[in-house]
Amino acid sequence: MSFFIERSELRDLHEKVVAGVRLTEDDAVRLFASRDLHAVGAMADFARQRRVGNHASYILNRYINYSNYCILSCQFCAFARKKRDKDGFELTVEQMIDKAREALRLGITELHIVGGLHPSLPYSYYLNMLRELQAVDARLQLKCFTAIEILHIAWLAKKPVAEVLAEFRAAGLASLTGGGAEIFRPEIRSRIAKGKESAAEYLDVHRTWHRLGGRSTCTMLFGHIESVADRVDHLRQLRALQDETGGFVGFIPLAYQPENNDVPVQTPPTGFDALRTIAISRLFLDNFEHITAYWVGLGIKLAQVALSYGADDLHGTIVEEHIFRMAGSQGPQLQTETDLVRAIREAGRVPVQRNTFYQPIRIWPDAPASPLPGRIATDALQPTEVISEESAGEKPVTASTL
Ligand code: SF4
Repeated sequence: MSFFIERSELRDLHEKVVAGVRLTEDDAVRLFASRDLHAVGAMADFARQRRVGNHASYILNRYINYSNYCILSCQFCAFARKKRDKDGFELTVEQMIDKAREALRLGITELHIVGGLHPSLPYSYYLNMLRELQAVDARLQLKCFTAIEILHIAWLAKKPVAEVLAEFRAAGLASLTGGGAEIFRPEIRSRIAKGKESAAEYLDVHRTWHRLGGRSTCTMLFGHIESVADRVDHLRQLRALQDETGGFVGFIPLAYQPENNDVPVQTPPTGFDALRTIAISRLFLDNFEHITAYWVGLGIKLAQVALSYGADDLHGTIVEEHIFRMAGSQGPQLQTETDLVRAIREAGRVPVQRNTFYQPIRIWPDAPASPLPGRIATDALQPTEVISEESAGEKPVTASTL
């Protein structure tokens, strides 16, 4: 047993985790109330190791926002614009194809595409987007649209959600994104995202997608005006849907960014709060395989530390991030593959390049002995094992220099 757990008041919860007994909401609230971050982290690290072993993953992906026009004005959002705003934009499908071609040259395997709730783009725009991007390269995985966008597109097109999802799937949609979850509790949701569809509607889109055979991720926006009980309630609802469908491939806690918005919170969550939230997510979401430390909100340094607090994934290269950046994130818009691999290896884990569904594409070799403890020699950053057919063809030779 870890030194930190042995001396902790949380030993009984550790025993439950070791025995595989599901934590209750009260247990999760107790974990949040504890100041013993190391003990919570050690428990989450145990749970992470038992579920996924020593691997930690990343993806070569590129973000594309097709438009920032949105009919809503969520109080926490710094990204959305109205048609009257000078800095509003919308991309043509041709412009997106150019970005996709550029991304493919960098070895990217996933396009992550979201936008605002556009007031007037026709249904055919979304279908063409998917079809034409998939036609650029059938190996490219298209992770697109939040559940809220799907509801909006279906409403505009006067089609049932299931029909929209089925048609998008046939056109090339690989996965829904997890965005739009924010915080489920209605009292808080209405104060940070007034007018946005409810938790039940968000979850029902994912349920429908999962029943069609699709997979998706889910999120929680934390560190604003929500309480610990609100977080636990949010996690409970995600866990319940995962029990029902098993369709979530990963959970991504999103750290709130405070700038350029109307939520009366001036600071992002602290490192302590971010680490315990990730750790408790790992412990409470016992039916989730993967927990992502999203470096865009955390910064790569804290995301790296989170690999020892229950996370097993660093998300991706991203290339061009707008949503968190406009909300005040000071970090870079991209990470190189080299940096992600180094961060994972310094944390003592085996780096794995993954695809959209968290399946391995490449596994990197063990870290070599280094004169500086914890540092990794750059010349050792070469992959050894090709796992999937998709990586056996065109080599992503320039991805490390993104
Ligand atoms: S969070 Fe999404 S739905 Fe809300 S205003 Fe921003 S773009 Fe629109």
